[in-house]
Amino acid sequence: MNQTKRVPSSTQSADVTVRLKEITPRQALSVSCQACGAAVRQCCELRAGGIRKKPHRARLLLAANKLNAAALRRPAKDRHSTAAR
Ligand SMILES: [Zn+2]
Repeated sequence: MNQTKRVPSSTQSADVTVRLKEITPRQALSVSCQACGAAVRQCCELRAGGIRKKPHRARLLLAANKLNAAALRRPAKDRHSTAAR
């Protein structure tokens, strides 16, 4: 049998189901940037000064995490039991 090697997805965070490429600029701007310190709704800034056309990767990750967290927070049909199992 041909066993396919499964590459551990340590480089990709498994929690992030929303892909970075799918993050819209508006979604990226909904979080502040940890890389350059741009506030919410403000574009990322270049170190030398000026506006970065694309948001920092860290910001995209943050936006993706936020979207995923929001998706996870959606209430399950019925939460009568606190125990998941
Ligand atoms: Zn930035």
